[in-house]
Parts: sequence; structure tokens; C-alpha cells
Amino acid sequence: MIQARNLRKKYGGVAAVDDLSFDVRPGVVTGFLGPNGAGKSTTIRLMLGLDRGEGETLFDGVPYRKLRQPLREVGYVSDVRALHPGRKARTHLRMLAASQGISRKRVDEVLDWVGLTTVAKKRPRAYSLGMVQRLGLAAALLGDPRVLILDEPANGLDPAGIQWLRGFLRAYAAEGRTVFVSSHQLAEMSQMADHLVVIGQGRLIADEPADVFAGRS
Ligand code: ADP
Ligand code: ADP
Repeated sequence: MIQARNLRKKYGGVAAVDDLSFDVRPGVVTGFLGPNGAGKSTTIRLMLGLDRGEGETLFDGVPYRKLRQPLREVGYVSDVRALHPGRKARTHLRMLAASQGISRKRVDEVLDWVGLTTVAKKRPRAYSLGMVQRLGLAAALLGDPRVLILDEPANGLDPAGIQWLRGFLRAYAAEGRTVFVSSHQLAEMSQMADHLVVIGQGRLIADEPADVFAGRS
């Protein structure tokens, strides 16, 4: 369960995130919807303490900085393009795993889950954008996190890839985990999410079941 309370962030006097409060419940996929520039990435960065701002976010009652193993408890990859393009995918994941005390066996497991086993010896430079997205997801899943936060994970996926991602996220959430996924596309989100938190210009527009929101839009 994530509880975000009164999040605020200004850039040069302009509010990018303007008093946002919402909950993200376990067991369902929650979409974070808003047009480009609405403040989704900034909100996520505030939630994880990666940006300075106002407000508080609790993960099962605990702020991110007080989690015992934050990288393992909260799966997040800010920008998959930051993943080393010249390093083989498996090597990259093994390094990430080693730095978090996670086994090599786990690396092979997550590569298998995201469907990258056969290409894990290639370098991401040679990957399609969809494959880079899968690699980012693999990195976020390494620690078997009970909270998964993904920023625009469907970007660059083809319809089959989106279908796969949707199934994956549903199954992950169905294990009682908390899944929070951003997107700027309503059509994509209404396929992927059970519940929507919708923002515009840094403010909350809706917080309701996805079918209710889609029915009104
Ligand atoms: P989204 O993820 O929904 O596309 P962002 O959180 O990236 O939105 O951006 C929200 C607003 O904050 C935008 O107006 C953007 O231009 C602004 N912004 C984001 N990052 C910075 C920054 N580092 N410096 C100045 N303005 C920023
Ligand atoms: P390095 O010290 O080599 O940069 P890090 O462990 O700091 O390695 O992270 C490398 C990459 O892994 C970054 O792109 C980061 O966004 C991503 N990453 C993986 N898991 C997490 C997480 N739970 N929280 C934040 N970043 C993560």
C-alpha cells in the first residue's frame, strides 16, 4: 500500500506537482494517467525521495528513506535508457543484483519472466525499444519487490507487447503486491489498469475505477 500525501514541487515558481494526495492499494494495477508535462515523473520522484519537495509518501506505513532495503522493497527503474547500453543484459543485471545482495539465479529467473533469456547475451544497444523496456522491468523485479513503480513502461511496446505487459502486471498485482504504472495514453491505461489516478497540471483530476473514468471520458 502506498499513501502519498500533499506532494508539492515547484520549478522556478511554477507548481509541477500541486498538493497531490492519493493511495495505491495492493492487489490491483493502478494507472497514473496524465498528458505529457502533467507531473507524473516528478510525482514518482517525490514519492521515492529522488527529488526534493513537500509532502510525505508512506510504503506500508514507512517513508522510503526509512525502509530497510528500499531498492529491494520498491522496484523502480527511472529511465531504462540509463541502463548501460554497451554491457550485456545479463552482466548488467548481475552487477545490479550483486550490489543488492541478490543471487545470480534470480537474474536468470527475471530474464525468463520478461522473455529476454534468449537475447540476454546481447547488449541493449542492439535491442528494440520494447526489449529495452523489458530489461528495465527485469531490473525493477530483481529484488522481488512488494511495490512496483513503472514510469511509462508501455512506451515503445507494440500491441502484443502491451498485451503481455498487461498480463504480467495483473498477475504480479494478483499476488497481493502494489503496482503503480504511469502513462499519457488513456486507451493504453484503460486496458492495463483496474484503478486510475488521473492528474493534469500537477493536480488530481480523478481517483476512481478505470471503467468509471473511461465511461465518462
Ligand atoms: P510528466 O512525467 O507527466 O510528463 P513531468 O513530471 O516530467 O511530467 O513534468 C512536470 C512539469 O515540470 C513540466 O512542466 C516540466 O516541464 C516541469 N519539469 C520537470 N522537470 C523539470 C526540471 N528538472 N526543471 C524544470 N522544470 C521541470
Ligand atoms: P550504479 O551504482 O552502478 O549506478 P545503481 O544500483 O545505483 O547502480 O542503479 C543502476 C540503475 O538501476 C539505475 O538506472 C536505477 O534507476 C536502476 N534501479 C534499479 N532498481 C532500482 C530501484 N529499486 N530504485 C531506483 N533505481 C533502481
